[in-house]
Parts: sequence; C-alpha cells; structure tokens
Amino acid sequence: MNIFAYLEQYDYEQLVFCQDKASGLKAIIAIHDTTLGPALGGCRMWTYAREDDAILDALRLARGMTYKAAVAGLNLGGGKTVVMGNAKTDKNEALFRSLGRYIQSLGGRYITAEDVGTDVHDMDLIHMETDYVTGISQAYGSSGNPSPVTAFGVFRGMQATVKAAFGTDDLAGKRVAIQGLGNVGMHVARLVKEAGGELIVADINDDSVRSAVNELNAKAVDVKDIFEVDCDIFAPCALGAVINDSTIDRLRCQVIAGSANNQLAEDKHGDLLHQRGVAYAPDYVINAGGLMNVADELEGYNAERAHNKVDGIYQIIENVFEMSRKENIPSYRAADRLAEQRIDQMRRVRSNYLFHEKSLHR
Ligand code: NAD
Repeated sequence: MNIFAYLEQYDYEQLVFCQDKASGLKAIIAIHDTTLGPALGGCRMWTYAREDDAILDALRLARGMTYKAAVAGLNLGGGKTVVMGNAKTDKNEALFRSLGRYIQSLGGRYITAEDVGTDVHDMDLIHMETDYVTGISQAYGSSGNPSPVTAFGVFRGMQATVKAAFGTDDLAGKRVAIQGLGNVGMHVARLVKEAGGELIVADINDDSVRSAVNELNAKAVDVKDIFEVDCDIFAPCALGAVINDSTIDRLRCQVIAGSANNQLAEDKHGDLLHQRGVAYAPDYVINAGGLMNVADELEGYNAERAHNKVDGIYQIIENVFEMSRKENIPSYRAADRLAEQRIDQMRRVRSNYLFHEKSLHR
C-alpha cells in the first residue's frame, strides 16, 4: 500500500503505529481531520489477514468519524484505532495500558472509545494511563450503555424521514419492518409501537423475535423475507451492506431508516434509492446518538443534555432532505456535503488569529 499517496488523496493528518513486544500490542491510530476538535473514534480489535487491511480499516473508519461528528454538530474530528489481534484470546492488561500511553502521547489530539472487539473493561485499562478515553465504567463518570440513546436518535430520525416522504411525521398506522432486534433494534421497536406503528420483525435470534411478538404484538417473518415485506419503513438494525444488488429490487418501502452502519453496499445503491423516490436516512447521521452521548462525557456527562442533543437528529435529518431536494442529490451525498460545508466554514472561522487560543472540547 502506498500510504502517503492515500493520506494525501483523502487529506489525512496523521497515522501512528504502536508496538509493544512484551504485551503483544500492534495498533494503528489514524487521525483524519481535527479542524473541529480532537479526533474521537472507537478502538477496534480484530484479526486482520494482512497489515494493509488493518491500516486501511483504521483510515476508512477514521474518515467516516470526521463526517459523522461534523454533521452531528459536534466539535470533534475523526479518528480510529485498530488493534491487530484476537479479541477473545489476545487481550491483557499490559496491552491496553500500553495503548493508553500511546494515546496519552498524542496530547489530546485523539480520544478513544469502545468499538467492535473492545468493551468497558478495556476502556478502564486505557483510562489508567490516559484521560483521553470515553465509554469507561459508569463509576468513573461514563455515559453507560449507548444503545437506548442510539435507538432514540434512530426513532427521531425515522420520524423526520417519514415527514420527508409522507409530509407528516406521524407513525400511527405505519408499517415498520425491523431487521435485527438487538440492543438498538428492540428499543426502536418499542418506540415505534408507542407511536402507534405496526411492527414486522426478523432476527436470527428466536428469543428476541418471540419477545417482540409477545410484548409488542409484532408480526414475525423469516430473516430472508424481511426485505420484501409490504411496509412503509424498512429499519435495518443488524448488519452493514444490506442495500445491495440482490436486495434493492425487492424493497417495497418508501422510507429506509435504521441504525446499522454502512447500509449501502455501494454509492450506486444510494443513487438508485434517490431515483426511485425512496427516502433514505443516511446511516451515519441517523445513528449518531451513541457518538453524541459519549461526546457529552467530555464535558462531564449530563444525561438530559445528551438526550436533547440526540433529539436534534430530527432537525439534522430534515436539513439533509432539504439539501437533497434543493440540489437534487441523493440523501447520502447531501449528508456528506453538509459535513464538508461545516468543516470548511469552521476552518475559516478558526483561521482568525486569537492571542489566547482556547482549546475547545465541545
Ligand atoms: P446487536 O449485536 O445488539 O444487535 C444486532 C441484532 O441483529 C442481533 O439481535 C442479531 O441476532 C441480529 N442479526 C444478525 N444477523 C441478522 C440477520 N441476518 N437478519 C436479522 N437479524 C440479524 O447490535 P446493536 O448494538 O443493536 O447494533 C445494531 C446495528 O447498529 C449495528 O450495525 C451497529 O454497528 C449499529 N450501531 C449501533 C450503535 C449502538 O449504540 N449500539 C451505534 C451506532 C450504530
């Protein structure tokens, strides 16, 4: 991989390699853009087949965080850590404390959090060496489980998307097909039910499906049939890349609004949804509640303040659809453009010389 060419192409600031033989640490910290503030992004632990795969994963995910934070209105940049290793067998105290010291050495340019393969215990170990970590135990002042907050944001984003498609954000009588009843999906299902929506659900876990059927009067369908059920709203809350060549023609919804990351297999699928008049809530906008919640920890966590920020996802999604309409561009492009505009504007604002430059973490 030609690393500098890639960094230049997408305007990355920094790529850090961290190695500690004693603990087995092999980690990569990618910092994409810190125009808005310190780069915040989770720490992923994964067994990568090749070093290049790990580097590319860190880089891509870091850039995604820049856009996510920017469109969410947070004063944060984008970064990500990947730890090369098996999350089940290769973890030890020294590894995370060593990583914590590398993060500390960046002086606050990067703040880490949980991600795939890491948990609150790992964050507590990192916290022994640095304050630049979120998602630590609640006893240390953390925000706790982000999933209910993410679900609330998805619900508000769903309402705004429904408004863009139907002219009203009322979910009463709307048929909502939810794929995945995990930490986020089940909460979304409850909120939809409370708002008077009708639920159609699918999950590979039969217990979750049974709960939704018994508790929420949901209709259960087979996991392979969820794409083609007759519904108003499809809410992907399980896996990425679910809008792809083999599913897009089967969809019968007018709205797509769910929590899953990277829902579009390729950009062309977002273009097709736009051409077909399906209102797609860009994934990284609608699922930003979890990020908003951990970001609030940086100011001393306040659940009510975090809740209010997440409530604002409704307005952000409205802005996305307004731009999509005005410019006649797909919603996923409109979201990117809003993020880029904000970064450009703030870059200009911050170029104004201040004698006492204050380092803002908000
Ligand atoms: P989770 O693991 O708790 O839930 C995922 C659910 O999907 C599980 O119940 C699983 O059985 C089900 N599932 C897996 N494969 C399936 C399939 N083929 N068909 C139907 N169901 C299937 O995860 P989560 O925390 O609820 O997150 C859900 C999605 O939202 C993920 O893509 C995640 O990256 C994204 N997300 C989550 C958060 C958060 O705060 N938890 C924040 C942002 C984005």
